[in-house]
Amino acid sequence: MAYVARYTYAERLATFREYWTDNQAAAHQLAAIGHIYDRPPLEELEHGSRCISCSAFVKKESSVKALESSCRHSSAYEKGFESFNFHHPSCIRLQVRIPLDPQAVFPGLHGGRFNELRRRFEGDNRRSDAGVTRSQRASQKSSLFTLPTELRLEIYRSILPTLDPETEILQLHRDSARVITSAGYHKAAARNTSALNVLRTCRAVNDEAMDLLYAHTTFTFASTKVLYLFLRSIGKPGRDLVKAVDVHCGGREDAIAFALLACCESLRSICIRLPRPMLLFSRAPIWVVDGMSCLLALSGIEDVRFGSCASALNGMSDAQPDAAVIRKELTRLKGVPMVTHYLERYLDTAS
Ligand SMILES: [Zn+2]
Repeated sequence: MAYVARYTYAERLATFREYWTDNQAAAHQLAAIGHIYDRPPLEELEHGSRCISCSAFVKKESSVKALESSCRHSSAYEKGFESFNFHHPSCIRLQVRIPLDPQAVFPGLHGGRFNELRRRFEGDNRRSDAGVTRSQRASQKSSLFTLPTELRLEIYRSILPTLDPETEILQLHRDSARVITSAGYHKAAARNTSALNVLRTCRAVNDEAMDLLYAHTTFTFASTKVLYLFLRSIGKPGRDLVKAVDVHCGGREDAIAFALLACCESLRSICIRLPRPMLLFSRAPIWVVDGMSCLLALSGIEDVRFGSCASALNGMSDAQPDAAVIRKELTRLKGVPMVTHYLERYLDTAS
């Protein structure tokens, strides 16, 4: 099938628009990694998407399973990618990474180190007799749900305010799809995972409790990889409520993380920490171009700030000309077309 190899991110996303309305998160992510919607010429053929560079085809149901399912359990995340690839092994689009690329990671997930860590963070909860600190087990056995609803809500309320106004999110460990608050990670006590365990349980219980958690919290991330895993972990109900993030950019996961961040309808504040003073530089690789295209595709954000990076003296700041470009794009109203087009032209001439 013929397809155009010069699609920009915005154009790739547009191909999904009318057909994937119930799967916006998957559509955004697919566009970020270089896919376009591939409408079959005959109705009986399977719907899916195709990479504009290597033409690898993936069925829609496979993509939705891999890109929208819960990744609270690493094994579920792993299963989502089984039996297909988004790209051929030599595809240039592999530069834009999906965090924890399964082939690179899964041998470690089954190793002793992983199990040891899991015991450390989950097993200790057995010693606690408080319902919520056992929510890891409750989520598996549903024993928490034998409590009256009012009591469960009371438990959540007593825990939710313990999230700081700025709450740093970390990966549970390097190879894990699971995330945890920094406070939880650094405490060796039994309540380690309680804050994020609440994220898992309250969806089934009460949206109000979710709102409590997100309304006054800025979630901070040391990389777009962790941001992505967080957005996957909280699912659509959480993404609908996230209001403020603070993230270090400049990684190969920028594109897919910002593409998914664009699905956060309530997002109003972002602090960008970019370890270089410009959006693009001469002969920027494709992951940089796509990463910045996906960043600029965000809209409807009221508060756009630029933070420093520990790793760079000369990062993006308000004084940089490109900072104005970013602010202008991100603060435009939702649904209003992008103002900037030079990124797109860059990609056109580069390909
Ligand atoms: Zn490809």
